[in-house]
Amino acid sequence: MEINLVSDTITKPSIEMLHYMFNAQVGDDVYKQDPTVIALENKVAALFGMEAGLFFASGTMANQAAIKLHTQPGEQLIADKYAHVFNYEGGGVSFNSGVSCCLLDGNRGMITAEQVESAINDPEFYHSPLTSLVCIENTTNKGGGACYEIEELIKIKRVCEKHGLKYHLDGARIWNALIAKKQNPKDFGRLFDTISVCLSKGLGAPVGSVLLGTKADMKKALRIRKILGGGMRQIGYLAAAGIYALDHNIQHLANDHKKAQEIGAVLRTKNWVANVEPIETNILIFTVQKQYDERWIIEKLQQKNIFISAMGQGKLRIVTHLDYRTVMHTYVLETLQKLDF
Ligand SMILES: *Cc1c(COP(=O)(O)O)cnc(C)c1O
Repeated sequence: MEINLVSDTITKPSIEMLHYMFNAQVGDDVYKQDPTVIALENKVAALFGMEAGLFFASGTMANQAAIKLHTQPGEQLIADKYAHVFNYEGGGVSFNSGVSCCLLDGNRGMITAEQVESAINDPEFYHSPLTSLVCIENTTNKGGGACYEIEELIKIKRVCEKHGLKYHLDGARIWNALIAKKQNPKDFGRLFDTISVCLSKGLGAPVGSVLLGTKADMKKALRIRKILGGGMRQIGYLAAAGIYALDHNIQHLANDHKKAQEIGAVLRTKNWVANVEPIETNILIFTVQKQYDERWIIEKLQQKNIFISAMGQGKLRIVTHLDYRTVMHTYVLETLQKLDF
């Protein structure tokens, strides 16, 4: 039994999900004639109370399309230094949009309204790039699954309104935040100009993201998606996986969070662990004591068929997910309890 805790993207579609996909009605989505894609787009838009949705092959493409939508070449966006859009999208912000990033030193990937306001360039000072967009990530990936209080996001929205900035949410794991903080997706829909959500992380679909926004913006995003090579044909089969995931898998996220908490509780008792970062959702980041090499710990666990990942600087990461079953969890807790050096 191999136990993969490297990421929540490693889940495989269940038999039930595959069955649902197999039975999807499809058409050519480049002509917007795929009923299942349209159903998914409308379903996610309705959930967040937003006007329209657009299906994307990946979260990266959805974020990149949003950034292109809200900016002009030469302008600047504001994000946390850990932001996925800056760190893990291959430099697409500059490649696709010709935009630079002003990175803020936030707390576990989360920034404040005060930080945002002080990072906005004076639009009269034409020597500096024009600030045009704020990108928020919730939950934070590199920040260890941390999630925002809605109040802070409202404050940042006010700053955006005051300075005429667009407001984008990278909500790849927004589902985890909604469950952990018992928040209402419509409260997010009201705040942001665009939201991207992933179906292929905690929700367990094999592929797919949806970008949400106004009808007018999604019309523009359709053209950008075409330019990025993201127009696809009979992809109702993939959209069906997303519909199945939304209907069946959101409720499982609370289990992922509970399991992450339980692993954290064991790790805190270990003398080779220096620190376990606060665990809010399904991502757990911990630091090993200086005298231990984290690669060595990874190998020790690998020998016991447990796979976790290193983040550099003595940090290790564990991510719980839909395919991490209770039997596996019991085994992982026991193994960690016994692991002493
Ligand atoms: C996974 C992820 C994305 C999108 O990644 P893809 O692999 O392109 O689907 C975007 N933002 C965050 C925070 C993520 O964790």
